[in-house]
This record gives sequence, C-alpha cells and structure tokens, in this order.
Amino acid sequence: MSKVYGDGTVAVGGLTLDVPAGELVVLIGPSGCGKSTVLRMINRLIQPTQGRILIDGDDVTDVDPVELRRRIGYVIQNVGLFPHQSIRANVGTVPRLLGWKKDRVRRRADELLELVGLDPARFGKRYPHELSGGQRQRAGVARALAADPSVLLMDEPFSAVDPIVRGKLQEEFLRLQAAVGKTIVLVTHDIDEAVKLGDRIAVLSEGGKLEQYAPPGELLAE
Ligand code: ADP
Ligand code: ADP
Repeated sequence: MSKVYGDGTVAVGGLTLDVPAGELVVLIGPSGCGKSTVLRMINRLIQPTQGRILIDGDDVTDVDPVELRRRIGYVIQNVGLFPHQSIRANVGTVPRLLGWKKDRVRRRADELLELVGLDPARFGKRYPHELSGGQRQRAGVARALAADPSVLLMDEPFSAVDPIVRGKLQEEFLRLQAAVGKTIVLVTHDIDEAVKLGDRIAVLSEGGKLEQYAPPGELLAE
C-alpha cells in the first residue's frame, strides 16, 4: 500500500507486509516514517492512495467502514474514550454501532471490563476522567475487543502511562493476548517494548520502507 497526502508528502511508498494470523507484529521506526499512516490505512480512517488490504484472505479495501469495525479493533495512545460517556457506554461503542440489543451490549461491556481487570460494578458507571491513565488504557483495550474483532491495531498503546504502569500493562497484555488469540499490529518507538511484545518486528524507515522483518532474536543489530 501507498499513501501520498494532499500536500504531496509520500508517507508510505509501496509497503507490502504479511502479518501471520495470531501473531503480534510490531512496527518500529523513527518518528514520521509512516507507522501511524499504515495503521490508519488498514482501518480506513484514511484512504490508501494505492494498494489492497486483505484480512483472512478477504479483500476489505472497499468494504463498509462499519463492517470493518467489527473485524478490526483499534487502540490509540490517549485512548480517545468519549469524555461524556460512561466507561460501560464507551466499551459498548462498536456493538451499539452494529445494532446489538441493549442487554447484550451491556453484558458484553461488563465481560470485557472484567477481562481487562476493571471491576464493572466499580468502574462501569464512571467517566473517563475519573480513571487513572492506566485504567483508561485498559478501558481502551476493552472497547477495541468488544465486537470480538480478529485483528487489533494498536498505536503507541502504552506510551502515555508512566514506566512502572507501562511494564505492568505490557505483562498483562501479553497474558491477555495469549487468552484471546488476536492478530495484532502494534506501533511503538520503544525498542524494549518491541522486543518484549513482538513475535515479529518490522523495522521501517522514512516513507514506510521495510528495512527488516524478523522475530526479535533474528534482527540485525544496527
Ligand atoms: P509515524 O507514525 O511513523 O510517526 P506518520 O504516519 O504519522 O508517521 O507520518 C508519516 C509522514 O506523513 C510524516 O512525514 C508526516 O509528517 C506525514 N503526515 C502525516 N499525516 C499527514 C497529513 N494528514 N497530511 C500531510 N502529511 C501527513
Ligand atoms: P473520534 O475521531 O471522534 O474519536 P472516530 O470515528 O475516529 O471518532 O472513532 C471513534 C472511536 O472508535 C475512536 O476513538 C476509536 O478508538 C474507535 N475506532 C476508530 N476506528 C476504529 C476501527 N476501525 N475499529 C474499531 N474501533 C475504531
């Protein structure tokens, strides 16, 4: 896929990336090399200038964005929870969008909150500003998982929390990933995080150029 922005910036100039099902692939590279653009093209927050996106063999480049939200969960740095909605309502965003019945949305939201370690009775009714950064991050992961997507895209998901909480969230996330078995593409600029979480690491350079793509142990040190 390629992305040339309106002002002529070639953010991604012809990247091909095969993410094996069930694996966690980390995209790493210097600021501005196109990592976020890749994720945003995959979930079509932006339109690729050129190229195709396939999920489980299906070409989803032109499918309806609502359908895409069922298949792709998305977590960003500052979570982007809706400030005027309760945590429970936030977690239910995508199921509601998909037209699930109220009761089912609520049950699903509470199940997910439980899964990410937020007691629904305690946190469900709270608003995002009434949670700590780490708790908001958990709620963001719960929201992304709500419709049981097969793919999870995560853009710097742990970088907005302090290093101690970050380490704990990373550990918990690894356990969660083992339990839910998603295909994950995670963007970071933190090499330690990449090595800790990645089954494979894609090292990008400017213009979304793929320099290396290998398991952490097989990367060439540079
Ligand atoms: P990264 O996530 O690796 O930091 P980005 O994907 O955010 O990189 O950006 C890649 C390049 O595209 C950068 O040069 C950035 O300035 C540029 N860019 C990002 N968004 C836009 C936009 N909306 N319009 C023009 N250029 C953009
Ligand atoms: P906003 O810009 O107001 O946050 P968006 O339409 O971009 O609204 O997204 C609403 C929320 O839904 C976002 O905060 C994001 O976390 C989530 N989201 C966006 N795109 C996707 C996607 N493809 N799959 C799942 N969740 C998504």
